[in-house]
Amino acid sequence: MMRLRHVILMSVLTAAGCSPSQHGPYSSYGNYPVYKGEWEEMVYSPSSTQFSLWAPTAQEVRVMLYEEGQGGSAFRMLPMEEAENGMWKAEAGGDLNGKFYTFNVKINDTWLGDTPGLLAKAVGVNGDRAAIIDLDTTDPQGWDTDKRPPMKGFSDMVIYEMHHRDFSIDTVSGIRHRGKFLALTEQGTATYLGDKTGIDHLKELGITHVQILPSFDYATVDETRLDRPQYNWGYDPKNYNVPEGSYSTDPYKPDVRIREFKQMVMALHQAGIRVIMDVVYNHTATARGSNFERTVPGYFYRHTDDGKLADASGCGNETASERAMMRRFMVESVCYWVNEYHIDGFRFDLMAIHDIETMNEIRAALDKIDPTIYIGGEGWAAKAPQLPEDQIALKKNISRMPGIAAFSDEFRDSLRGAWGDDSKGAFLIGKRGFSKGLRFGLAGGVSHPQVPTDSVDGPLRNWADEPTQLISYMSCHDDLCITDRLRATMPNASPLEIAALMKLGMTAVLTSQGVPFIYAGDEIMRSKYGVGNSYASPDSINAIDWRNKATHRDLFDYTKGLIAMRKAHPGFRLEKAELVRKHLEFLPTPSDNVVAYRINGNPGGDSWLNTIVVLNADTAPAQIDIPEGKYWIVCSEGRIDTVMGLGTLTGDKLTVAPRSAMIVHQ
Ligand code: CA
Repeated sequence: MMRLRHVILMSVLTAAGCSPSQHGPYSSYGNYPVYKGEWEEMVYSPSSTQFSLWAPTAQEVRVMLYEEGQGGSAFRMLPMEEAENGMWKAEAGGDLNGKFYTFNVKINDTWLGDTPGLLAKAVGVNGDRAAIIDLDTTDPQGWDTDKRPPMKGFSDMVIYEMHHRDFSIDTVSGIRHRGKFLALTEQGTATYLGDKTGIDHLKELGITHVQILPSFDYATVDETRLDRPQYNWGYDPKNYNVPEGSYSTDPYKPDVRIREFKQMVMALHQAGIRVIMDVVYNHTATARGSNFERTVPGYFYRHTDDGKLADASGCGNETASERAMMRRFMVESVCYWVNEYHIDGFRFDLMAIHDIETMNEIRAALDKIDPTIYIGGEGWAAKAPQLPEDQIALKKNISRMPGIAAFSDEFRDSLRGAWGDDSKGAFLIGKRGFSKGLRFGLAGGVSHPQVPTDSVDGPLRNWADEPTQLISYMSCHDDLCITDRLRATMPNASPLEIAALMKLGMTAVLTSQGVPFIYAGDEIMRSKYGVGNSYASPDSINAIDWRNKATHRDLFDYTKGLIAMRKAHPGFRLEKAELVRKHLEFLPTPSDNVVAYRINGNPGGDSWLNTIVVLNADTAPAQIDIPEGKYWIVCSEGRIDTVMGLGTLTGDKLTVAPRSAMIVHQ
């Protein structure tokens, strides 16, 4: 998410008010004309360039043409003509390739400031002016044969969330293009100790998807000052349909960031890894002076009854997905990233600010392209949005959004402790009262006879219709990373104890029937030195220290082993709720500090029969009654070996070492 911590919305909300002064000839935002034709703002050809802008409340609109992406005055000004449904149009003869442009909108006899428009596909430095380029020339060699790596369904996913700069800025990474898109194109990189880094690390770990933190053009990093270190997570959108300039090797040249982004996607695809983009349509960096506000003031944002900007994002504004042209903007922006950049999935920041209908339209539009394109999001907002609760994409409404997943804070909090108080621990550090939340997450959040729910609105409402609608995780970029959280909640623990609990947590996440999600670096015990909200922290906090891979090789190998096991055995990733109810059976345990389950039979033709997983967070060994038989041990006492195994046992009891997981099968 972003700068403010999130809450889960439970309150009943009121419908949006409107400020009448912004409406010009229209009585409300709902009456604004809706443009139905192809929505483009700049169509280039060598003989002429067509400009269009949807600005229904404008008195006049003009296009300014520039030689450069910043500085200097316009060399030409083109008045635009009003066309149908709020659209304005102009045509400029001649070859404008390489030039830049902005739009100016006049309302109430005042010219609003320069804007590159809403749909700029290429921009100059800092995204202040749009660029006229021929997009075909930005395709890297081999792009026309680039393909999504094969994937049968969402249950096969293992997500790895990363920030470009965190991932490669450390010089120890051995990566040349540190902090850039191109870092993910470099093969054969390693630390001085010989451990693989970069894309080779991802391949070695075995994840199926990288989820990149905001990589569209955002506002906070000054692209003209890349000579000095700057950092931001990027939850402050400026141009939604253009890659961020600071991750390119030259933010001044509009084609460079586009080409390098494509090179990154292509390299990941060639490594068998799909790419999920973190998208932040719920708010803009600022409302005043934003592209939305300089084009159609008021329309793209929600307001409170007194006409002020509403602020469900906690960042000063919230967008209005329920309005026809905002909804269209979101649907088409997502499709654009898929079609132009071959993106394979989206993570919606503060998804509950958007309305359900918009999210379902996005799902439908992506299904037409490829139904394996993933959608997940945060099923909450920072504050209550200006729409009734039953209309917004809350986690509790996820059953009305088939094919869309939401993060399970229940599972996360049951593992590591609740958000908002970093001193509180939970299951992993041996606190009681969290086994129910563990079972909830392990069952993928679907209704299950052994996961009783408190009440319809209770903390453990089974909100997922299918297990693939639940994102199973214990940490992400928000809040303390898991090592730091464990250290904060168990200050006297030794590094070995922390590592043991990391493995236990990884086992829970990677054997959950939900979609597992790992925060980059957790697999090598990354630390952010106690800083949770590190959205603008320096590299000294955020950079992944790749030397950790040697120090914590054991945790890395264990995590890698879990991922390989999940991928090899369909019992760990049952696609349907029905299958989860049929095959997943929780076993009685001696205490609330132990959770155990069996996957009955061999669903999906699994080569393993009757797999049993035990998570023991107790400081004492746990003894579990199991159906009598002979079992192969594949995980025990912090070690995992699914190929050769770790021995066998015969009988009707399992003894699981303290603070560790055990996995056996017949
Ligand atoms: Ca930028």
